[in-house]
Amino acid sequence: MGRLRFSFGTMSSGKSTLALQIHHNLSATNMGLLCSMHDRAGAHVSSALGVSTPAVEVHPDLNFVSLARNHQAAHGALDYLVCDEAQFYTDPQVEQLAEVVDELDVDVYAFGLLTDFRGKLFPGSARLLEIADERMELQVQARCWCGEAATHNARLHDGIQVYDGDVVLIDDGSAAQVTYELRCRSHWISGESGPVADRFKAAG
Ligand SMILES: [Zn+2]
Repeated sequence: MGRLRFSFGTMSSGKSTLALQIHHNLSATNMGLLCSMHDRAGAHVSSALGVSTPAVEVHPDLNFVSLARNHQAAHGALDYLVCDEAQFYTDPQVEQLAEVVDELDVDVYAFGLLTDFRGKLFPGSARLLEIADERMELQVQARCWCGEAATHNARLHDGIQVYDGDVVLIDDGSAAQVTYELRCRSHWISGESGPVADRFKAAG
């Protein structure tokens, strides 16, 4: 029987690095596919450490059951799917992953961010928490500027934290400079930047 596994964390929790490592290890003896969506490198999974591997680009209309069946028909087997950036997958796509596990006996390793900059669960992550066989919080913990474990992703416009806006931001070049920062809950709520960021602001 396959399993649907969901590993989640903040930015910089090593999600993509772990996704690449699992794909690398399994692909030595098994047939599998690496999938991603909105990755910084396009149809690749790339880790912050600089490793990058080609991946199936997941569009909102991609059907994972069809993808898996087509792969089995063309190559005779499909043992696993490694799915990065799964927080962006639609509800039907997450349900298709469960179907791939149950009907086609494929192992699925999904990775994603838990909450967005507003502090709300991403839709794909919410559905995965609801229906995955296993849920694992990644243990590589990033730190807030104060030294506490970072549990929240903050979005900043020109250095000021914002709590409203589109979840997926298309950079059209005209908007304020958008950056992300990891914060503990307390500093995510207060919106306070650390002393280093304040120094930059003073200098800029
Ligand atoms: Zn803090």
